[in-house]
Amino acid sequence: MLHIMDNRNGIKKEPKATQSVWQGTLSRLDHAMDLLDLTPGERKYLSNPRKVIEVAVTVKMDSGDIDIFSGYRIQHNTNRGPAKGGIRFHPDVDIDEIKALAMLMTWKCAVVGIPYGGAKGGVAVDPTKLSARELENLTRRYTFEIIDNIGPEKDIQAPDVGTNAQIMAWIMDTYSMDKGYAVPGVVTGKPISLGGSLGREEATSQGCVYTLLSALKVHGIDSTNLSIAVQGFGNVGCNAAKILYDTGFKVVGLSDVGGAIYNFDGIDPYKVEAHAKKEGSVARYPDALEMAGEDIFSLKCDILFPAALENHITEANAANIKALFIVEGANAPTTPDADKILNDKGIFIIPDILANAGGVTVSYFEWVQGRDAYFWSKRKVNLSLRDIMDKAFYEVYALSKERKVDMRTAANMLGVGRVAEAVRLRGIYP
Ligand code: NAD
Repeated sequence: MLHIMDNRNGIKKEPKATQSVWQGTLSRLDHAMDLLDLTPGERKYLSNPRKVIEVAVTVKMDSGDIDIFSGYRIQHNTNRGPAKGGIRFHPDVDIDEIKALAMLMTWKCAVVGIPYGGAKGGVAVDPTKLSARELENLTRRYTFEIIDNIGPEKDIQAPDVGTNAQIMAWIMDTYSMDKGYAVPGVVTGKPISLGGSLGREEATSQGCVYTLLSALKVHGIDSTNLSIAVQGFGNVGCNAAKILYDTGFKVVGLSDVGGAIYNFDGIDPYKVEAHAKKEGSVARYPDALEMAGEDIFSLKCDILFPAALENHITEANAANIKALFIVEGANAPTTPDADKILNDKGIFIIPDILANAGGVTVSYFEWVQGRDAYFWSKRKVNLSLRDIMDKAFYEVYALSKERKVDMRTAANMLGVGRVAEAVRLRGIYP
């Protein structure tokens, strides 16, 4: 695949899909709204974010000079509860991407039935190019710029691509210093010692695995020795590979932004994790062969697990996919054009707003534990997560059968339908 070098920082950008992620998300929403028979006013309401905040994040760099980065926080909907969504630090962040991801959060929270609306934030920055001090300065300044619009009852932050528990701790501290007392509930995905939840780190991946096990069950397939290829080896991809490996799946391919590896005899993701920590990438792992990053999609495997960024599975590569199941750990990894090809091939897709909802579900548990000041065992977290993921999977699956639509359409119908009902019940203020 052709890679375009981004002049700003040398990071590889994938060629753009024919539709942007925002256009793709809107076209899927339109399809769901057609099937739900919503009024023109409801359609307009659900298609637009409630609040779009754009800020200049000014940072004093180690050189003594100042730099300015574009930052966003977008609250798509708050009808079912406070806005909720992660913060992304990545050079490709822009307003349309964050708008799409915020909207997906609204449907996702509704699909799993947790009392939140949807939001997303981001800063257009390559965090790997910043020193620890610059990263902290950027995080605190970004938090300061959006501070009046966030809070445990208003809009709750969480990690996403390029952010982690340490960054959540800095956001919590900045917000708390402004208020004059500790407010742990303004973020989830924070360190355990600051009121984080056991199981949150791997929750997104664990939730994906629960939905995959349900999908295999409804197809009458035994999971023993099924092979899996994972694109992206960050929080979601690495934890998923480890959980699947521990569950008895055979990991045959892994990739990250630095390269891709495969071995049909199986790969131990724990060893790859140790290698990647030292070398900065899964590439050059000694017990596997190298391939181009794009080849992860055409690798012979039973299950494909995209866990990188959006719009990677497109009409250009969908026909080459050999997997029988796709579990969308990433948000919006598949374009609507690719969906058609994959559906025609009979591939069973567990869509993002269902598959990766385990992250926000355990974020909700973290928020609940914080409000009660009573903390759960990891066993309780995972049992509660499984209950919610199983219920959501079977509700989406039943709707897909009843309305004879694919799983993505069914998940969108369920999520959008629940939000539309909340809009109707609350009415429009004033
Ligand atoms: P992360 O920053 O921890 O990891 C991202 C990974 O993707 C890295 O390994 C990176 O090298 C890889 N990557 C980036 N570009 C790539 C490319 N072109 N080819 C191959 N690999 C590439 O991020 P994360 O938290 O693991 O998030 C991954 C995806 O999962 C995102 O779409 C995110 O929105 C979604 N997600 C994350 C969470 C969460 O709790 N962290 C929850 C739900 C959904």
